[in-house]
Amino acid sequence: MEARGVDTLLLSVGPDLPWLIGYEAMPLERLTMLVVPIDDTPSLVIPSFEVPRVIERPGVFTVDGWGETDDPVARVVDRVPAGARVAIGDHTWTRFTIDLQHALPGREWERAASVVGDLRAVKDEAEIEALQRAASGVDRIAAALQGGEIPLIGQTEAEVSAELGRRIVAEGHAKVNFAIVAAGENASSPHHHPGDRVIRENEVVLCDFGGTTAEPEGEPGYCSDITRCVYTGEPPAEFADAYDVLQRSQAAATAAAIPGAPAESVDRVARQGLAEADLDQWFLHRLGHGIGVEAHEEPYLVEGNSDPLVAGNAFSIEPGFYIAGKWGARLEDIVVATADGARSLNNASRDLAIVQA
Ligand code: ZN
Ligand code: ZN
Ligand code: ZN
Repeated sequence: MEARGVDTLLLSVGPDLPWLIGYEAMPLERLTMLVVPIDDTPSLVIPSFEVPRVIERPGVFTVDGWGETDDPVARVVDRVPAGARVAIGDHTWTRFTIDLQHALPGREWERAASVVGDLRAVKDEAEIEALQRAASGVDRIAAALQGGEIPLIGQTEAEVSAELGRRIVAEGHAKVNFAIVAAGENASSPHHHPGDRVIRENEVVLCDFGGTTAEPEGEPGYCSDITRCVYTGEPPAEFADAYDVLQRSQAAATAAAIPGAPAESVDRVARQGLAEADLDQWFLHRLGHGIGVEAHEEPYLVEGNSDPLVAGNAFSIEPGFYIAGKWGARLEDIVVATADGARSLNNASRDLAIVQA
């Protein structure tokens, strides 16, 4: 905050608050807000009847419960010190941001990402361990998928998605963030919504799934995110060859994701790999996104982001190709940049499994 000239940090709904104090604000019309003055004890302004949800940390922050007829914005304003610049959480509801701006005229406002973004992007050992637990959980589901333990042929995408969701929870996640299942031509839509489409023999099934880990009360959960493709039969040579190129591209990009490498250079490595088979034209999205308490966060591996990766960054490496109306594929792991090189947290087989289940 001092480096950014910020006097007060205000955090409400969204991932910054649980990352900092282990409490997730309810995304409702009653205001919950942690007020962090630069040189005073932070206080959590929260509906009184939600105070029992808070794991209190005396000496770290105080708790200020407000009653149904109190004005929570005034409570926050009372705790904001005199100063010039306020940073407010990116996910804060606009109604509260606007009310606070009216109540604190003359301040400069900026997004809290300027204060917490770089801190959240560099994971400490405990965070990497949580991400590893999350990754190992979905790796086991991927192995079950590849081993034919999850029925595919004759099932709808939605049914397989629901089964993935049940397994995500069984593997130690508190919630499912997404479970994309895209069969055949639907695999050409990167964020396909699984529906009534019945999975047939001899087609690709793309599965991209993840959740947020269940942690002890007062600790934030961390996210998993993996994509594996299987084929319900012997893949045609055209698809198998394209998948091989994708797999090599993903491996090359992973190896390049080391501290000091500009984020965009890793994206380029993946694209160059796909270009060997003219598949780069069908790679429709950035290579990857950071991951932590949020499924998508900084750093983003995308052309235009020349910021160098630093040790402790955790992000996805997920090249793909998407040929409209025909098929598509993606291969995704969560990777951590370390002083010893790139460390993949996901290690389920990256080969194209043939599944006749
Ligand atoms: Zn995505
Ligand atoms: Zn994914
Ligand atoms: Zn992802």
